[in-house]
Amino acid sequence: MRGKGLRLGEVHGIEIRLDLSVAIIFFLVVYSLGAGLFPQWHGDWSPGLSWATALAAALLFFASLLAHELAHSIMAQRHGIVVPRITLFVFGGVSELETEPRTPSMEFSIAIVGPLTSLALGLLFAILGLDLAGAGFLDELQADPEAAMASLGPVATLLMWLGPVNLMLAIFNLVPGFPLDGGRVLRAALWWLGGDLRRATQRASQVGSGFAWALMAWGAWEALGGAVIQGLWLLLIGWFLNNAARASYLQLLLVQAMESLEVADLMRTRFESIQADAPLQDFIDDKLLRSDQVAWPVLEGGHPVGLIGLDSIRARLKEEAQPRTVAEAMGGIHESVSPHLRGREALQLLLESRRDPIPVLEAGRLVGLLYHADLMRWLALHEIETRQRIHF
Ligand SMILES: [Zn+2]
Repeated sequence: MRGKGLRLGEVHGIEIRLDLSVAIIFFLVVYSLGAGLFPQWHGDWSPGLSWATALAAALLFFASLLAHELAHSIMAQRHGIVVPRITLFVFGGVSELETEPRTPSMEFSIAIVGPLTSLALGLLFAILGLDLAGAGFLDELQADPEAAMASLGPVATLLMWLGPVNLMLAIFNLVPGFPLDGGRVLRAALWWLGGDLRRATQRASQVGSGFAWALMAWGAWEALGGAVIQGLWLLLIGWFLNNAARASYLQLLLVQAMESLEVADLMRTRFESIQADAPLQDFIDDKLLRSDQVAWPVLEGGHPVGLIGLDSIRARLKEEAQPRTVAEAMGGIHESVSPHLRGREALQLLLESRRDPIPVLEAGRLVGLLYHADLMRWLALHEIETRQRIHF
């Protein structure tokens, strides 16, 4: 979800984004509180008061979600991991970490701090709500729940809803299925015990898939029993979780595969070169117009001295003195790469470089050409996406 949605602002150097799908859940929360729960609790409230309280409750709910995400992100930053952005979307929030945690303890602390934040917020809201409700509220709640809730003012009502919601958020996220926070805690434990990140991820993802299927079964049961909206919602969350569990495991395999990947694996080795003193017109007639190669390395005494292609020729043709040889029309080699550059650095180079292709040089000799399209093809083949952390 890179770059999509609404930019809310920046906290601690982390961009906060709102995916437009949040609108669905926002209206759902406002509607179910403003038209359902609050009028049911408070028969004497005006519709305006119900809706205003519902709106405030929904806003605070999203602020709570954001606090949960910020806890993960700031902990990740403290461990030296770059966090470019947090996105809130229909199923919750995602903190994008540029790299995965490097040790089990790092993974554990980044994962656990989110649910702990939700737990703390839940307790805080509940305690504040109880304080506002006054002494004897809990006894009254047991004796006559309806009368007890009806006696609460708007702020206490809001807190009494927000507290349990945050507690539920903490509990749900602690379910030990990857990629939920609890699944990350489980993975950290398995990783620490067995020392094998891949196996730990596989196990935690399997538990995540199991939980997702259980949710879907529960949703189907509810839907068949008549609670259609609630059932479909559970089905949807289960389906999403199941995909996420599988995708996270695949992603890890790919990240590990990429670690052993070298520029030499991606670069093109079949291409034509051209001598620096060759007449430009011959080059245009015999090569440029007869091949789909984009750029030709220009050689002088066996060594690459430049690159020539349509772009460099067009740039030169605009000048006064018309170029006659390839050397006069070529562009210089401003950037090159070693065939042994590995995984992440190779990826970084290709994502950041504006040159296409980039010559691959070894000991001053040209051994290949690296095109952006080659990496994109490789990524597409392996379905690599940005590392994501998912919650509800
Ligand atoms: Zn979380």
